Amino acid sequence: MSHVVIVGASVAGVKLAQNLRSEGFTAPVTLIDAEDDPLYDKPPLSKDYLSGASSAQDIAMTTADDLHAREISTRFGVAATTLDPAAKTLTLDDGSTASYDVLVIATGARARLTPWASLPHVHVLRTRTDAEQLRGELVAGRHLAVVGAGFVGAEAAATARKADLRVTIIEPLGAPMGRAMNTEVGGIFADKHRREGVEFRFGISVERVEPVGQRCRLVLTDGSTLDVDAVLLGIGAVPNTEWLESSGVTIDNGIVCDSTLSAVGIPDVYAIGDVSRFSNDRHPESVRLEHWTSAADQSVLIAHNIAHPDDARHYDPTEYVWSDQYDWKIQIVGLTGSDHWRIVGDPADDRFAIVYGVEGQPIQGAVIVNWPRALIDSRRSVAGQAPTEELVGRLRSLLEASKAAV
Ligand SMILES: Cc1cc2nc3c(=O)[nH]c(=O)nc-3n(C[C@H](O)[C@H](O)[C@H](O)COP(=O)(O)OP(=O)(O)OC[C@H]3O[C@@H](n4cnc5c(N)ncnc54)[C@H](O)[C@@H]3O)c2cc1C
Repeated sequence: MSHVVIVGASVAGVKLAQNLRSEGFTAPVTLIDAEDDPLYDKPPLSKDYLSGASSAQDIAMTTADDLHAREISTRFGVAATTLDPAAKTLTLDDGSTASYDVLVIATGARARLTPWASLPHVHVLRTRTDAEQLRGELVAGRHLAVVGAGFVGAEAAATARKADLRVTIIEPLGAPMGRAMNTEVGGIFADKHRREGVEFRFGISVERVEPVGQRCRLVLTDGSTLDVDAVLLGIGAVPNTEWLESSGVTIDNGIVCDSTLSAVGIPDVYAIGDVSRFSNDRHPESVRLEHWTSAADQSVLIAHNIAHPDDARHYDPTEYVWSDQYDWKIQIVGLTGSDHWRIVGDPADDRFAIVYGVEGQPIQGAVIVNWPRALIDSRRSVAGQAPTEELVGRLRSLLEASKAAV
């Protein structure tokens, strides 16, 4: 019987173990994770869990007892330190080893750090403990600096404003989420944050942070300084691959995989979730996605491929990611960020869509705010590679019809 060992027990790893059982796979499955209690979901860490609106129980993905009931073994609180693919063996940091027939690497990513990241009142946001520590700083009237306005930084800023902190975002680009959406579109979201009271310092970054009494002084690259009570460092994530360095696994900002998510050149080793870099027809240059839905979808695919090796499927998703900021539910499908975009609806109405694509060519992707019906149509259009104009026209008609109905 094939023993499947999964390293990493967050969304990708846990869902894989569960999906293997749903696929009727009855052989032994073992989940290994460095954290003592890794079975929680990460998206709420910058949203309801950070604010305190959700409890640890609310964000639990499952329990060790539930996993054991499905005959999934767990080894938590031990990190994998080396892999020997020829011997099909892992070593763990408690000195023990684990043998596998099939290995799935789901070690995700960790927060990118700076030399001043370990100072008091400087935080990152990747684990439940990180969220609990940052929550301790969310006291009304205090001043929080958010360094980096990607999704996590923008969401945490929104949560901090709701808790009535003064919030300043420092971002080298000209807008929040500018990499994902382009800076012009990001400007629409900057305006929303400004209306909610966030202050921005665009086009500069932080040179260093110095402790000043109980506070932090940020020295910015334009020579100015900013004194705050706490800092959130939100400058991206680094894939957890160092433990594989001597293994022969190809690493290039993630584990390099083919379109079946198999690690290239290493038999019986797959990589899924934030740590996996894959290529397929739509992504010939390879991508590494840091999205919850991608991790979940990849776990479904690999469970199928392990349980049905004669029917290996290729990973070709329609990308999907969501973000919650204030009263805006932001949903993103497909590939966004190009300079060719059109807006349907008005941000002042808190409901609109941005459609990316060149006139006369297939739609690339869409960003949708508070508009579930537009999301359904956009998803269908992106998956079916419909012409850009067709989706723009359909969304305009939807908007007209909903206005007429009011
Ligand atoms: C604050 C926050 C908010 C987010 N919000 C959203 C959102 O709104 N929408 C969205 O689509 N996505 C969101 N994401 C992204 C999403 O959570 C990730 O894409 C997802 O968690 C990736 O899952 P994963 O299982 O691949 O990796 P991870 O969640 O990174 O988990 C990896 C696991 O591997 C373990 N591990 C690492 N190295 C080792 C080792 N050597 N040995 C053993 N175990 C190891 C770690 O302890 C960890 O438990 C958010 C992420 C964060 C941090």
